[in-house]
Amino acid sequence: MTLTSCKRCLQQLASVSRRSLTNLSYEDLTKECREDSGWDSDVDSLSSGGEDEAVAGTPIHRVVLLGGEGVGKTELARQFVGADGGYESDSDGGDCDDPFLDPDSMPGYGLRNAFQKDVKLDGSSAVMSIIDIPATELYDSDDESFLNAGDAYIIVYSSTDRESFRRAADVALSLRRAKKTAHAPIIIAANKSDLERRRQVSSEEGVECAVGLDCKFIETSATFNHNVDELFEGSVRQLRLRTEARLLANQQRRLRNRIRSARRAEPRRAEPEREKSYFERFVEFLERLVSSKKDRVARMKAKSCHNLSVL
Ligand code: GDP
Ligand code: MG
Repeated sequence: MTLTSCKRCLQQLASVSRRSLTNLSYEDLTKECREDSGWDSDVDSLSSGGEDEAVAGTPIHRVVLLGGEGVGKTELARQFVGADGGYESDSDGGDCDDPFLDPDSMPGYGLRNAFQKDVKLDGSSAVMSIIDIPATELYDSDDESFLNAGDAYIIVYSSTDRESFRRAADVALSLRRAKKTAHAPIIIAANKSDLERRRQVSSEEGVECAVGLDCKFIETSATFNHNVDELFEGSVRQLRLRTEARLLANQQRRLRNRIRSARRAEPRRAEPEREKSYFERFVEFLERLVSSKKDRVARMKAKSCHNLSVL
């Protein structure tokens, strides 16, 4: 950043400050600065991670359902999309516009079920493409393309089946170990919560597993439609939050680099007790802004893993 562009930023900042300094977000500031000073940035061209394709401006969110046999994956997806509200396909294909749901694009998983549903969440529309990969295919195959397939992952186990819990933990661990999904949104769903008498896995164990692997946790019952919308909608919310957090981290890194190089370029003055320049005060302001935003993100992360609306 040159001093000239920085002066423009300062002017811009002054006009922003007059408008609403207290409500000024980091994004507002960088956007205003970037627009006015001609800061080059490739932040905008970053892949959003979850919104890589858009049909008529509506982002597609791809959710992969994973988990053992009979835990209720298909039942959960059916409940969510409704009897006639969604697209569904099997190995013989179907009429679908998302290649993600096309059996030919991931030939190893030809027997999967696929669903599609339009959702409107927190004022923004999205198309959810959901694939439900049968556990037998998943565990019998060496092909791990499912690891790259989704924007978000829902791993289901049955709270009445301890083995399915062990499998869910294994899958979550594999996803976290893979580079592509190390930071992807993952929700662990303990299904069949209606069968309390047959419970083999406690809620505490589920939470412990989720927290340890940086996942969210929710108890569901596909049969009684309990927390089903919360689960699928939560996966979209998590995707949006994580994408936002990643963009913010990138912006902060860039801004810090710019501040560092601008500091190096600023000529040193001889007199020790001189008054701070506008530029120095501006840099200090930006630094305070960056660190307060960082604190906010840290506080958000500390919230309960049951809450699918926060990071
Ligand atoms: P998938 O193999 O994981 O796709 O499991 P399915 O969706 O085919 O479900 C397996 C069986 O569990 C079916 O008989 C479902 O009716 C039943 N099931 C699924 N979800 C629930 C649930 O929440 N509660 C109860 N009691 N049964 C369920
Ligand atoms: Mg199934």
